[in-house]
Amino acid sequence: AKEAGRGGYRFFAPEMNRKLQERRAIEADLRIALEQGGFRLAYQPQVRLGSGTITGAEALLRWARPAMGEMSPDAFIPVAEDTGLIGPIGAWVLQEACRRAARWPDGMTVAVNVSPVQFRQSDLFEVVMAALESSGLPPERLEVEITEGVLLGDTEETLATLRRLRAAGVRIAMDDFGTGYSSLVYLQKFPFDKVKIDRSFIRNLEKDASAVTILRAVLGMSNALGLSTLAEGVETAAQAEMLRHEGCESAQGYLFGRPLTPEALDELMLRQRHA
Ligand code: C2E
Ligand code: CA
Ligand code: CA
Ligand code: CA
Repeated sequence: AKEAGRGGYRFFAPEMNRKLQERRAIEADLRIALEQGGFRLAYQPQVRLGSGTITGAEALLRWARPAMGEMSPDAFIPVAEDTGLIGPIGAWVLQEACRRAARWPDGMTVAVNVSPVQFRQSDLFEVVMAALESSGLPPERLEVEITEGVLLGDTEETLATLRRLRAAGVRIAMDDFGTGYSSLVYLQKFPFDKVKIDRSFIRNLEKDASAVTILRAVLGMSNALGLSTLAEGVETAAQAEMLRHEGCESAQGYLFGRPLTPEALDELMLRQRHA
């Protein structure tokens, strides 16, 4: 197909058509998954860096696509967003995560990713409240993770929704901090409780002195704004030690635990309780 591509158009037309068909197929399968209970959640532990104790977990969506196997959320969430399916899928994630977390030991929090598209669907506040009510999970134990994409667009309405959630007791975390364009401005403008420092900053901590400088600046600023801090994608003990030394409060990453089945997380939390 490469050779046919020299003409440009002749290459792109069938290629785009193929992509479109693939997206339609994913969409159809997503609808079936929604109707037939094809989604699961994995839970990745979040730990306090000083003590190593688990404080909660992030819920991560999992989908085994029929006849295709496990598909990454990075691949199917954009399709769900384009087709509006993210609304019902996101509502399911909130319901399921809250239902599960309500059974966890006291004080354990659950973090749920909320897509910018979901945020713009205007009923997000009600969807969150419904999940809390039906599960009985105290609002303080739910943390909503949003990315910079949420903050683009209609900021007045976004701000109003964030404020309502926060007034209800729900925590708000800024996800993937540092990967966007204006993260700093947003931190000041929107009511966050926590900053999740993106893995791209953590990855280079051992190799790159400037990565440490940036980390220090992010932590200093977060502290000054009264925000708690969590480092994402921590894979080595050396990274964890550097983060602890620099005053980062908590962390998440393969070093502490991969995303787990709900049962495996229960076991981990129980073991900690009896240790
Ligand atoms: P994210 O919110 O930044 O989630 C963290 C991702 O990093 C997860 O990938 C997780 O498995 C992975 N990860 C965690 N620790 C490590 C580590 O130490 N090293 C490395 N290399 N990776 C690590 P996952 O589960 O594939 O999710 C990818 C993205 O899909 C998430 O990124 C999030 O943006 C999105 N996503 C996942 N679940 C949901 C959901 O329920 N709703 C929405 N809207 N988006 C979701
Ligand atoms: Ca996240
Ligand atoms: Ca993240
Ligand atoms: Ca991400």
